[in-house]
Amino acid sequence: MRTYHFPLDLVRERSPERPVALVRPAAVAVAAQWFQDNLKADVFYAVKANPSRWVIEALVAQGVTGFDVASLAEIELVRSVMPEARLAFMHPVKSRSAITKAYFDHGVRTFSLDCEDELQKILDCTAGATDLNLIVRMAVSAEGAAYTLSGKFGVSPDQAPSLLLSVRRAVIDGLMGVSFHVGSQCMRPSAYQAAMAQIGRSITRAGVFVDIVDVGGGFPSVYPGMVPPDMSEYADAIHRGFNEMPVSETTELWCEPGRALVAEASSVLCQVELRKGDALYLNDGSYGSLFDATHSRWPFPTKLVRDGESSGELKAFQFYGPTCDSIDHMPGPFWLPADIREGDFIEIGMLGAYGVAMSTGFNGYGEHDLAVVEDAPMASLYGLAPRSIPTVRTTDEEAARKVVRLSRPKGRAGQRKKSRR
Ligand SMILES: *Cc1c(COP(=O)(O)O)cnc(C)c1O
Repeated sequence: MRTYHFPLDLVRERSPERPVALVRPAAVAVAAQWFQDNLKADVFYAVKANPSRWVIEALVAQGVTGFDVASLAEIELVRSVMPEARLAFMHPVKSRSAITKAYFDHGVRTFSLDCEDELQKILDCTAGATDLNLIVRMAVSAEGAAYTLSGKFGVSPDQAPSLLLSVRRAVIDGLMGVSFHVGSQCMRPSAYQAAMAQIGRSITRAGVFVDIVDVGGGFPSVYPGMVPPDMSEYADAIHRGFNEMPVSETTELWCEPGRALVAEASSVLCQVELRKGDALYLNDGSYGSLFDATHSRWPFPTKLVRDGESSGELKAFQFYGPTCDSIDHMPGPFWLPADIREGDFIEIGMLGAYGVAMSTGFNGYGEHDLAVVEDAPMASLYGLAPRSIPTVRTTDEEAARKVVRLSRPKGRAGQRKKSRR
């Protein structure tokens, strides 16, 4: 992988025809360091947020050894970078063959589940193994998150006590744990504490002892119109929640951050293929790395990367992707110089999480190149760049009204809720 100081160096040298994922491994290291220094929890990186090899390598170099995996492909990827990694198979629904191969071929010992049938499946497929760590995924409320993750998985509070008892009985020499996910891009630190209180009540009702409390992912990043509280508030809420739980001194605290470790660390460089008024037709779109720009209408931050002068005045643009599908539309608004034209390159920031990871090959598009860049991300919760991205970038009143309408906060956290991930 080539390294460039700035994205513009790459544009000057290569004028890339395909979209390029601009990656910043140093930003992954800084984020991982924050978790290592500030959260008294073992870190398991949720690989699905960005399953790129350079991410796994950057984390391993930073001393992260735990990985939350959800498929055999993710298991094989992590094992190929770090054979001795601690893998937690945290998908609550796994095929029998995936469980068997994970346990016997890849040495996975930690599995999550949210019902009796899945427990039985895991026990059957591991042939009476005594060294399993079994984690019960609990459903919790997703107040304040952009995406709820309890819609599909998690045992409800009324069924939790009996499942906790069954799992406690099934664990022999391994560990028994509980996990939850407050929802992705969680803007309220208190959601963790509330979830831990709810789970604590289920543990008390079941009368079991738990060895692991896994607070899952959900840690946020910065997007236009979404400035999360300081990360220290998340650590405080989790530590408080843990202290109030019916656990002992030997109970381990785990976390599974995805987005927060990688969001800042990658942007995408794409090219304008046509301009029609305020619409820019790009070579990347909703079937590529801009899923959230379409389906959640997230107005990701943008920069013109042009070798030469541009007008200082910014204007609101919308994007269309390269496929023939009308869904391939990103409403934005994306703020770019008013004189942007065909052939220009645009860097779209904060796409390290659920960006390139979501790419499909639909309509023959979706392939990306990769290059390392050394400049700062467009925003950062870890001090690498400003903590916020302005939503309105102009004094033009009409444009400003349009922005406010498109990104008006819904409820206190300013998020819409959707079921995904
Ligand atoms: C997706 C996922 C994560 C990571 O979530 P983020 O919101 O990206 O931090 C962690 N754990 C599980 C079980 C997940 O499904």
